[in-house]
Amino acid sequence: MNVAFLGLGAIGRPMAECILRAKHSLTVWNRTAERARDFAQHTGARQAATPAEAARGAEVVITCLPNSPDVESLLDGDTGLLAGMQRGSVLVDCTSGDPTTSRRIAERLRERGIDFIDAPVSGGVAGALKCALTVMVGGDEKVLARALPVIQSFGQKIVHCGDVGAGDALKAVNNALLAIHIWTAAEGLATLVKAGVSPHVALDVINASSGRSNASMNLIPERVLTRAFPRTFRLALLEKDIGIAAQVAREQRVPAPVMQLTADLFTLARSELGEVADHVEAVKIIEQWAGVEIQ
Ligand code: NDP
Repeated sequence: MNVAFLGLGAIGRPMAECILRAKHSLTVWNRTAERARDFAQHTGARQAATPAEAARGAEVVITCLPNSPDVESLLDGDTGLLAGMQRGSVLVDCTSGDPTTSRRIAERLRERGIDFIDAPVSGGVAGALKCALTVMVGGDEKVLARALPVIQSFGQKIVHCGDVGAGDALKAVNNALLAIHIWTAAEGLATLVKAGVSPHVALDVINASSGRSNASMNLIPERVLTRAFPRTFRLALLEKDIGIAAQVAREQRVPAPVMQLTADLFTLARSELGEVADHVEAVKIIEQWAGVEIQ
């Protein structure tokens, strides 16, 4: 298929590589043109100068940007997506977005005969490098079927979740759980270190017991105990995700004090650690408060 990909960030770039590996014809655009040039030179994809140029002739356009307002901001103007996308094409938004903005984008595209699905991904950069992401899709199932050959090139588990916005909502709640698990595992381990228990011993037991999570089984052993803290998924993006989850809970009138509190804690962590810090670096805030390192 003719595919356009916009947003060659930490996860977007390996996803775009998967699309090429699956032998689709690919045109890329990135806000910082150098990144798209580098990608095009290394892979043989075409580089477009504007979103409109990337979208021209594409049956499927994929966006993978920080948040939904960033996607919406690419729609308008002479160089915007709407100036290039053809009737009958599909915008597949792989951003971890918010349902309200996604529904508004879908409505604006529908007026022009263009379809929209929200299709956020899970599995991290490691999953993208293996072209084995989980993709959660909101929108019309027939539209998903049309875009499926492209989504399958980077997705291993592809699940239709409901109407437009359902993928965003599910992704936000999943990442809220991730944030809560990282934060509470770090609180627990800092407590145990101060109480004289080695974090290696603590994790050995917790990971064979009912308190285990992806944070305790993978993230903390691989990234915190080793002090490696690789930068694969920005803390600022996880802060955004848990903020969306708390917002969805408010809209649905579900009391969600733990999600809201953790959203506030991640806002605090981001303001302390900055825009480029990795999400697991949030642990450093708890270490500072406790006056110990979890290692
Ligand atoms: P990055 O911050 O690494 O990359 C963001 C990309 O978006 C870059 O290409 C950047 O361009 C572009 N961009 C940022 N702002 C704008 C804008 N206003 N207009 C146009 N382009 C813009 O993010 P990730 O690749 O990590 O994440 C992308 C999405 O995927 C996010 O929604 C994130 O939550 C989600 N995600 C990320 C995962 C991960 O492990 N990294 C895992 C699962 C989901 P430029 O090069 O100019 O900065």
